[in-house]
Amino acid sequence: MKDKALSLLKELTEAHGVPGNEGEVREIFARELAGTGELSCDGNGSVICDAGGDGPRVMIAGHMDEVGFLVQNITVDGFLQFVTVGGWWPHSLLSQRVEVKTRAGRKIVGVVASMPPHFLPPAQRKQVMEVDQMFIDVGASSRQEAMEDFGISLGDPIAPVSEFTPMAKEDTYMAKAFDNRVGMAGAIQAGLLVGKEARGNQLLLAGTVQEEMGLRGARSAANFAKPDAVVVLEGPPADDTPGFVRVDSQGRLGGGVQIRLFDSSAIGNPEFAHFAIDTAKAEGIPHQVTVRRSGGTDAGAFHIANEGIPCVVLGVPARYIHSHNAVIDLNDYLHMVSLSAALARRLNAEAVDGLTRYL
Ligand SMILES: [Zn+2]
Repeated sequence: MKDKALSLLKELTEAHGVPGNEGEVREIFARELAGTGELSCDGNGSVICDAGGDGPRVMIAGHMDEVGFLVQNITVDGFLQFVTVGGWWPHSLLSQRVEVKTRAGRKIVGVVASMPPHFLPPAQRKQVMEVDQMFIDVGASSRQEAMEDFGISLGDPIAPVSEFTPMAKEDTYMAKAFDNRVGMAGAIQAGLLVGKEARGNQLLLAGTVQEEMGLRGARSAANFAKPDAVVVLEGPPADDTPGFVRVDSQGRLGGGVQIRLFDSSAIGNPEFAHFAIDTAKAEGIPHQVTVRRSGGTDAGAFHIANEGIPCVVLGVPARYIHSHNAVIDLNDYLHMVSLSAALARRLNAEAVDGLTRYL
């Protein structure tokens, strides 16, 4: 399971998949799960693998997209101005490598840049540069060269460039897009583990689009796939670095799979949360429970879709998400896969009915 995890995480984190342009991630998902069930997509591009089985429709879902950019304008002298798709902190942007994916599929490397500090008035040097004052230098010397020779067009997607990298500490890895390629790899691995087993449910594996733009893809995916319960897999921010009270951390690297009960997008279904915690305890899976003051996941869209769908959110805490270099402990990921698989085995008709037995 570990070797497969590493090859999947490398391929998925290095894939180019910003909101609305998740094709490379979808291709990996479809290739990996082609033998597990029937694949289909909704009108926005969210992908579902129906692994079959009888009983309630249980979905394990991750969002495919990562935070990135789109080409907004090309200046006459060949620099790209851009809009962000997903939340970026301007501190994380300058001097970072990015790749523009052209309509022809060519990848053009560039660097995020601004007026250098050497030319800025002293007061401005201390301020955070606004994103709209930044641009991307792809080495073109004119708009014509960028468009005609490089093939860049307005609206082309731009993703961060960052290599999946093992760190000195065993099982610690650095990459871009752990939010949410840990969720995509997790949905794939859970599907490979239990997709062919006899289960008391109809298992659906899903990759949603455009989560980073306000949980958009999950809405149509819910309509399309009609799940009765959803396990949302995520790569949430860790809170175990300097500045936090470490003993109060709820998202510590190495602390196990995170079970999220609350954030500003969703109050987790209490029965489902207890079911997940009880399952983790019964199976001996290390876990950490979190109540977040902010943030959101696809559960925010799923739980109010259709007639209301019970959700639980599992996560692999990742330091420095929404940047070029996030850090995870692989063991937390492996525990998330184990808990997802255990839930897929246990969520039979009685268990799923119990999640919404209000009367
Ligand atoms: Zn995410």
